[in-house]
Amino acid sequence: MDKLFFTEEHEMIRSMVRDFAQNEIEPVAQELDETGKFPRDLVDQMAELGMLGIPVPEEYGGAGMDTVAYAASVIELAKVDASLAITMAAHTSLGTMPIVLSGTEEQKKKYVPDLASGKMLGAFGLTEPGAGSDAGATQTTAELVGDEYIINGSKIFITNAGEAGLLSLTAQVIKDGEKLGVGAFLAPMDTKGLEIAPKEKKMGWRASDTRQIFFNDMRVPAENMIGDPTTGFRTFLKTLVGGRISMAALAVGTAEGAYEKALQYSTQREAFGKPIYKFQPVGFKLADMATQIEAAKLLVYHAAWKKDQGEEVLKEAAMAKLFASEVAMDITTEAIQVFGGYGYVREYDVERFFRDAKVLEIGEGTSEVQRMVISREIVRNALNA
Ligand SMILES: Cc1cc2nc3c(=O)[nH]c(=O)nc-3n(C[C@H](O)[C@H](O)[C@H](O)COP(=O)(O)OP(=O)(O)OC[C@H]3O[C@@H](n4cnc5c(N)ncnc54)[C@H](O)[C@@H]3O)c2cc1C
Repeated sequence: MDKLFFTEEHEMIRSMVRDFAQNEIEPVAQELDETGKFPRDLVDQMAELGMLGIPVPEEYGGAGMDTVAYAASVIELAKVDASLAITMAAHTSLGTMPIVLSGTEEQKKKYVPDLASGKMLGAFGLTEPGAGSDAGATQTTAELVGDEYIINGSKIFITNAGEAGLLSLTAQVIKDGEKLGVGAFLAPMDTKGLEIAPKEKKMGWRASDTRQIFFNDMRVPAENMIGDPTTGFRTFLKTLVGGRISMAALAVGTAEGAYEKALQYSTQREAFGKPIYKFQPVGFKLADMATQIEAAKLLVYHAAWKKDQGEEVLKEAAMAKLFASEVAMDITTEAIQVFGGYGYVREYDVERFFRDAKVLEIGEGTSEVQRMVISREIVRNALNA
């Protein structure tokens, strides 16, 4: 099936990421989950291999590859360790993309090469304590005073916050006491007035870095605004469309990782004198898993491919994210069932995949939000037909 979407170049990057994930990440994935320690050394190695700028244009220091290549890379990482996959995905498709999509030439030249090379990580600050699914309800304000914006408020659940060098964030733009709209800004993480809270203690993605960020009279130059006060939020929503393809890829990888472990175990574990895959209920579970993965992968690669044709993929990205994340939850649950009691303990890893899967139905738009997006799009298309 991959051949429908893959060129030789796609095969090459996938096999490079797969080798790295299997040789360097897999041996320590369990320990990273246990300790929750951010694997800076592995992230640095990923940077050296060019994995932190895969879809970024070459002129800004990236690999200049397409969304299919990027999705294939996220899948390979997530098959082994979803924490490393989300670290890379939040950096690339969330932290870096607002600048690539809507930044000025100066902003692109100033920030993107360091992001694409992995010299610094990027983070994406949209969610607030009172603005999650309803992200436009942002309470953070950016008031124009002279040639600076003074930013006050906070962002919550920000991936890479404690490790990043640059934050893209949204804020209500205020000028002369008037609210102009939700704008997008760039803030180096060492900006005075930016405070980073301790790491969240999470169910899964335990080796990724998730924190709240506070802005207390944080001053950024006016030139750090991305676009204008009326386009910032749109840039973030556009960024999220691409982000959803990478979350869907992360879900496919998580599902595939759990499935491969279950498949292997089913050939080794014996009960009633035969390997358990020979029992139809186990064999059928494996058949359902393989089918679900194939379907989810097709949705991911189709959305990625269509985006690479320059087409609008709001609906396709939402469908891929919705379906793949729910498939990941189902498959990781069933993988534990195939392992029986051994699936419930840490030794065999499938419980890690199960814990890592849940957030896929929440982050970058919950399943409910994806259904809202899809229903809006299909009705709109039907009415316009
Ligand atoms: C580990 C992790 C990492 C994250 N990383 C980032 C990051 O890097 N940057 C960032 O900006 N955000 C990040 N997020 C935030 C994430 O995107 C939000 O948690 C998500 O969008 C949901 O928002 P919320 O948590 O406020 O839930 P809420 O919006 O409060 O939703 C609660 C429930 O209500 C439902 N709901 C809400 N509105 C509706 C509606 N209109 N119709 C039907 N149901 C509805 C939701 O589907 C959900 O079930 C991260 C979250 C997690 C857990």
